[in-house]
Amino acid sequence: MDFFDFKQYEHVKVDPDGRKVLSVNVNPEKACIFNCRICNVGRTKYQGEWHDFGDLNDSLKDLEERMESEKPDVVEVAGGKGDALTNPILQGILDCAHSHGAKARLITNCYLLGIDGHMELALQFDEVVAGFCFTDEETFNEIHRPVPELHFSAAKQTESIVRFSRRYTGKFTLRVLLVKGYNDSDEQVADLKKVVDQVNYTNLWVGTWPKFQVSDERVSQISEILHA
Ligand code: SF4
Repeated sequence: MDFFDFKQYEHVKVDPDGRKVLSVNVNPEKACIFNCRICNVGRTKYQGEWHDFGDLNDSLKDLEERMESEKPDVVEVAGGKGDALTNPILQGILDCAHSHGAKARLITNCYLLGIDGHMELALQFDEVVAGFCFTDEETFNEIHRPVPELHFSAAKQTESIVRFSRRYTGKFTLRVLLVKGYNDSDEQVADLKKVVDQVNYTNLWVGTWPKFQVSDERVSQISEILHA
């Protein structure tokens, strides 16, 4: 079964720096470590650290053909439905991109980045773009609804991001996503800053969650605080 989904109708978009990017979503159904109350893509069908959707051969063959016909500079890997880092097929995609002379970019959330097994995959990407939202345990649990037996927590999330960022040598874009009423108070922003300050990132991007939008003015205020 070919289960990759290529994002653009034309398959290749052009980055602001002029590079051709082929974007691929690797999850045919929603798989993620969390089942967030605010998720844009509905309930998580497979919640856990890993979900294997099966034989990769047909999907890789499709990717190979697109690499040969479209010759992208970058292969951008995202979950589409959930988080790409729960999908164990990433090694195949990395090898395919690199063997065609392309860079590989991972779009993910921050939770699994520094966790054994996932980190070894993430470290091989040339670029990683990863977002997080909450630093207090109560909001973290209320919104993300983690599976209790995995013992995931906001503190473990911080450890995971920091651990990854200290080993990673590629371009790391850290995204802080503001959720109105849940992480945009002065006190919560001060806590976000404590986490951001521990991370070795290349770029810091501050934005807001589509369903719980923080005003543009407050986003730029918070962005200034987090960049200081
Ligand atoms: S971590 Fe992201 S993809 Fe996963 S359930 Fe939450 S919002 Fe959805």
